[in-house]
Amino acid sequence: MESASVKFEALPLLLPETAPVIIPSPRNFENLAFPNVAIELPGVCPLCVHAIEAKYIASYLRPGVTNQSPLWLEVMFACPRFDCQRTFITRYVGSEKQELVNRPEYWKIEETFPFKALERGFEETIQRVSTQFVALYNQAYSAEQHKLALICGAGYRKSLEFLVKDYAKSKNPKDQVAIEKTQLGPCIQNYIVHPKVVDIAKRAVWLGNDETHYVKKWEDKDLADLKALIDLTVHWISMDRLSDEVIADMPDPATVAS
Ligand SMILES: [Zn+2]
Repeated sequence: MESASVKFEALPLLLPETAPVIIPSPRNFENLAFPNVAIELPGVCPLCVHAIEAKYIASYLRPGVTNQSPLWLEVMFACPRFDCQRTFITRYVGSEKQELVNRPEYWKIEETFPFKALERGFEETIQRVSTQFVALYNQAYSAEQHKLALICGAGYRKSLEFLVKDYAKSKNPKDQVAIEKTQLGPCIQNYIVHPKVVDIAKRAVWLGNDETHYVKKWEDKDLADLKALIDLTVHWISMDRLSDEVIADMPDPATVAS
């Protein structure tokens, strides 16, 4: 047995004041039992996405493969909602703080599977501008939740391209062909008249990658910048559209009079 599990066995079980859930004697692949562990329950069912008190079904403990690698605890839960009743596995990873080994804060939830990918809703104004944007955005969001970084980065970028170009075409129907041929970066500069959006777009290095065959190594920061740019563009287009609608509904009396 590795020394990581020896350390684990040597410590007494300390119960915290808040009510954790005790996992009784999790076992490894050799059916070797370990001491009870205390964990926090996942608060949301990953399949019906409702707040639940997850029901414990079974557990599996993987001691650190090396002295440095963390303990894994995989716990199978069931959703108690009558309409759902599905099971899922939550993987807890042990922290480096060995002194906390028998406290629930020692175990951090790393991932839960299977899960239903969440969808982001967009207001009707945006859906009217570009249904393709909404569909592409949510496919990218799903890829992100499945940790498919390359796909989600390229997908979010593509969604922004549809949003900006569909918006630009709706405002400039005569320029449709030119807009289609323009790359995303210049398209934002030419058709989005909001200084902050243009400013962020200028700093975004990934905007230069217009070649579809170009494989970009997406960094977390690139992804955060791209999503911030999408949010800002969505808000700005939404505001611009609502302003147009209000102006159309309430014509300026001076203009009407003349
Ligand atoms: Zn459920």
